[in-house]
Amino acid sequence: MNKLMIANWKMNNVVLDCVRFMEDFVPKFSAKREAWIAPQALHFNLVRSMGEPKDVKAGVQNISDQLFGAYTGETSPKTLRAMGGHFAIIGHSERRQYFGETSKSCALKNRTCLREGIVAVYCVGETLAERDAGQTLSIIHDQLLQGLNDVHGVNPENLVVAYEPVWAIGTGRTATPAQAQEVHAFIRKVLSEKYPGVGDKMRILYGGSVKPDNVEELLSQKDIDGGLVGGASLKAKDFLALCGDK
Ligand code: PEP
Repeated sequence: MNKLMIANWKMNNVVLDCVRFMEDFVPKFSAKREAWIAPQALHFNLVRSMGEPKDVKAGVQNISDQLFGAYTGETSPKTLRAMGGHFAIIGHSERRQYFGETSKSCALKNRTCLREGIVAVYCVGETLAERDAGQTLSIIHDQLLQGLNDVHGVNPENLVVAYEPVWAIGTGRTATPAQAQEVHAFIRKVLSEKYPGVGDKMRILYGGSVKPDNVEELLSQKDIDGGLVGGASLKAKDFLALCGDK
């Protein structure tokens, strides 16, 4: 299974930052690992076209569960696909926290994306209070079953799950490799049961303060197939290091 690193730029970077990043990143990127980038939607096409020569795939940080129509402000998966978009991040904890997304609403998005040929990168993760209360695995279990409810036709290429403990996102606090591995192994088990024959081959990414100095240890864990990265994906040099290109 090829390791996959996804850059989530969130609402950062002006257009010139994107151009400079791609000019620095693309020529040095050796494709040892896969690199996908989710810039602000307005910069999607720029990143897509500049990444194309090295197959650096572009996607979005959020997507509509509808294809067309009167949904002001939304991004259609059909339009994204037609523009050469590869993937959508779905259910990031910031979307759950600030925009009222739930695992149930994510199921609609996951379903629509898969139908339209967009890879769904579905995010799950517990809060610190939930971890402290010993509820981590049951929270992850619920998020997986609800977010993947009625989601069919999946294969290891069109569904990626990202485990992002909320307490580790943008905080500088990383789950230890052992903590992350425990949850990843659990996710693998749930996916294998839900999708016999294919679930065990799906990529499960870790996200939460991944940096060049902790990435290798995290990636050495058996069930960690890559990373979803915020802060450390903003500098080309750091993202290159995360992709195994020092
Ligand atoms: C994220 O936003 O998905 C993330 C993991 O952020 P950071 O790497 O900054 O913790």
